[in-house]
This record gives sequence, C-alpha cells and structure tokens, in this order.
Amino acid sequence: MKNADIQKLIQQFPLIEQLIALKETQWFNPNSTSVARALPHVGLTQQDVSEAHARLARFAPFIAQAFPETAASRGMIESDVVPIPAMQRRFSPDITGELWLKKDSHLPISGSIKARGGIYEVLTHAEKLAFAAGLLTPDDDYSKLLSPEFARFFSQYSIAVGSTGNLGLSIGIISARLGFHVTVHMSADARAWKKALLRSHGVNVVEYAEDYGVAVEQGRKAAAADANCFFIDDENSRTLFLGYAVAGQRLKDQFTRLGKVVDNAHPLFVYLPCGVGGGPGGVAFGLKLAFGDAVHCIFAEPTHSPCMLLGVYTGLHDGIAVQDLGIDNQTAADGLAVGRASGFVGRAMERLLDGFYTVDDNTLYQQLGWLAQEEGIQLEPSALAGMSGPQRICSNSGYHQLHGFSPEQLAQATHLVWATGGGMVPADEMAHYLAKAR
Ligand SMILES: *Cc1c(COP(=O)(O)O)cnc(C)c1O
Repeated sequence: MKNADIQKLIQQFPLIEQLIALKETQWFNPNSTSVARALPHVGLTQQDVSEAHARLARFAPFIAQAFPETAASRGMIESDVVPIPAMQRRFSPDITGELWLKKDSHLPISGSIKARGGIYEVLTHAEKLAFAAGLLTPDDDYSKLLSPEFARFFSQYSIAVGSTGNLGLSIGIISARLGFHVTVHMSADARAWKKALLRSHGVNVVEYAEDYGVAVEQGRKAAAADANCFFIDDENSRTLFLGYAVAGQRLKDQFTRLGKVVDNAHPLFVYLPCGVGGGPGGVAFGLKLAFGDAVHCIFAEPTHSPCMLLGVYTGLHDGIAVQDLGIDNQTAADGLAVGRASGFVGRAMERLLDGFYTVDDNTLYQQLGWLAQEEGIQLEPSALAGMSGPQRICSNSGYHQLHGFSPEQLAQATHLVWATGGGMVPADEMAHYLAKAR
C-alpha cells in the first residue's frame, strides 16, 4: 500500500495508527447486535451445528478406540473448564466477577483448539467417501473404521493443509490414523517439535521459509493438481467452523453440571485468541447459539498480527493484510501469526463479535509465567492472548455503557479465558518459555 493510501485509511479509521505503532489496542464493535438479528447474516444455523454434534457422536466409538486417552470420555474430544482464583488474585482488584479457564490447551489427540475443527473436518470427509463407496451407513458402529479394509480404502486418497503448526498437527494425526496420505504445508513460524511429531506419525511435512499465507497458497496449488487430494481450507471452510461451534452447547452443559448460572443478570465474557479466525469464530458462533445475548465474545490478537481487528474494523475483511500497513506478522504467538483474516469468518460474524484487542508478546510471556506459577497450568504463548481481556472489559466504562451493564451484573459476571494450546509442548520447549517469562 502506498503511504498516501495508508494516510487516507487512517483518516477514516484512526485506530490504524495505533496498530501500525504496535501499541496494545482495543476496539469494541458498535455493530454487534442481538443473536436474533445477527443470525440470518451468518449463513449457518443451529441445524448445521446439531448435525455436527450428531456426526461426532457417530464417530465416538471409533475415536475412543483409536485414541485410548479419549476412552474415559467415551470418544468425546472435550476439555475441562476450571476456575483460576489464584490467577485472579494477581489481577485483583481490577476484575469483578469470576475468572475461569477453558482448557482446550489440553484437548486429547493434539493438545490445542484445532482438535475440534481439524479433526471434525477430516472425519466429515472420511464419512462422505465411505458412504459414497457403500462401505458405511450412519447406523453402523464406526469402530469398524479401524479395520485394515478401511485403511486400504482411505489410502487411495490424500489430504493436504497449510498451517502455522497446530492445525497441521490435528489434521496430520487423525488423517494418518484413518489411513489417508497426508501432507502438511508448514509456515516458517511452525515449531520444530510439531514437524518432528508429525513425521513420526508418517505425515509428509513440507516446510516454507515464508508465513502462513504462503504455506496455504502452496498447499492449495499442490492439492489442485491431484484429483484424489482434498485440501482443507482453513481460510474458508464452513466444516471446520462447525467443528469448533460444537463447543458452545458443550460448555453450557458443563456449566449446568457445575451449577453455574449464565443469564442476563450473570453475563459471560469469553476471550478467544484469534489467528485466521475459524477457531474463535466457530466457537463464538456456538456460544451465541447456546447462551444467546448473555454471552459476549471478544477476540485477542498479537500486536504484530492484528488481522481480524483490522478486517472487521475497516470492513475490508480479507481485502487487507497487516503487511499492507507495514506490520511484520512476527510474533512468539505462532498459532496467531496470520496476516490476513478469513473473509468468510469476518463477514459471517461481524454482527456477533463484541470486541477485539491486541496484546504484546511480552504480556503473553509474563502471563504464561504467572499462570504456571499460580495455577500450575502450562500453556503456549498464543493461548495467553485471552488473559488480558477481563481487565480490558472491566476497566472500560464505555463498553459497560454501550451494553447498559449495571455494577450488579458486572459483579456477577464470569470471565472465561479460552486457553487454545500448549498441552503437548515438550518439556524442554516449555522450560524455554518459562525462562523467557522470568
Ligand atoms: C490456531 C490457533 C488459534 C486461533 O485459531 P484460528 O482458527 O487460526 O483463528 C489460537 N490459538 C492456538 C494455540 C492456535 O493454534
């Protein structure tokens, strides 16, 4: 972008100046509206999410046997939600209400939020192929997918994906387990251990010196040349999005079991780390369906990769990248190192997302250290992006006024930080993160 064009954009959208200066920034969405009003614009429905629940239930007997760590949950890939009172004392008295953590960092199979969408999309593709070949019906016991016959069948097909690491991990592991040939196109940010782990599962890993956008483009091209290859499109996939959306009703069920109330008098604020947007977008959609207007969804991005804030704030969506403004997309939060947001997610969700903020890498490391020390919970840097959210919301009277929150409501609020990854980080790598935090 030419400097004159950037100056013009800043005149119209003044916060861009702060984004370019890499300052921690927040923007509360003046166009957010009620679920009832926004829903017709999303293009997906409760029915779509219900079908995703049903599909995951069909696959549960397969998952339980293929991944024994899910046997206890009978093949359901789900994470705990826990209060983090010691961490809250760190932030005291700036946060009113209760501080909780959703531990998608510790989801089985791949240790990140990508164990929702990534795995769901591969299962959807596998089911479609097996139905079409007459090998499977919805009423079958899906543990038959573990048989050599199915591995032979799936080995005729391949799957490809571009990733900063965690999506590749999820899709690689589940695809290889079913018998697919699978290629993961990894951006330069991807950690070495993720590539090594994938190779140990028999996954073909292609490495790029460039960022996520390039890895996706190259993956898309390679897949287009092979009619039997299915490309998982992280930037545009509605299937991935629905895999994430299932989290909403599941969280509601967990809160019900814990006796935790969410309603107008007890609002729920959820803070979601955002890369390309599919993960947090899908989860936010599921949350809005499950909790209605009692839930507020806030996206968090690194100061060096504020692609979704930029896209929704300007209305340009995937028509602008942070690099167009000279922002470098270099961050320790490798899962969030995305320069151009999903246009599909931004457009579908722009009336449902309540706010966006950016956070500095140093803040992520500091909070990574605190959470490990206070709660004994170890996360990767990306997963801390949501941890700054409660203070930003609690301290912003403009936001309280915008939504008409009373002090009573805020005192009874739950602040839920969505921890998106870190459960499978090797000990030496984690020691390195903790040393940086100190
Ligand atoms: C991928 C990822 C996210 C964000 O998901 P997107 O779909 O890219 O927005 C957040 N945290 C971690 C750890 C991730 O791997």
